[in-house]
Amino acid sequence: MAQLRKVRRVSHPNAGKTPYLKGNSVPKRILVVEDNPENREILTLELEFQNFEVQSAENGALAVESALANRPDLIIMDISLPVMDGLEATRRIKAATETAHIPIIALTAHAMEDDETIFRKAGCDFYLAKPVDPEKVVLAVNRLLGIG
Ligand code: MN
Repeated sequence: MAQLRKVRRVSHPNAGKTPYLKGNSVPKRILVVEDNPENREILTLELEFQNFEVQSAENGALAVESALANRPDLIIMDISLPVMDGLEATRRIKAATETAHIPIIALTAHAMEDDETIFRKAGCDFYLAKPVDPEKVVLAVNRLLGIG
């Protein structure tokens, strides 16, 4: 019996934390896409503190790759990114059937009225203006995931 439990724990990534529980007690996984290391750190720490599992990517191309490989529950996407910007990464994630359903929160320094149309057209579900406010991000995450 003890051995069986050990095998299960090893084979299931969440088994050690929340074994055999359903719903919100299983940590939701969030992909943070940010090229600014400080913002990435702030968001990661805050979301981990809120019991989310966080992965991160430093540019849009890596974000698309990670989204397809890991299928996170939600993506926080900086718009201004090297290699591929956040709008193009969002378009690609929303164009792939495997990842089209994943909610995306855009983070942008260009919080002008006209931009909202551009974000929505690209497929962003919500957007927040920078500077990054971790509390606002968590509120938006919870709302989009239907938590709280
Ligand atoms: Mn940036």
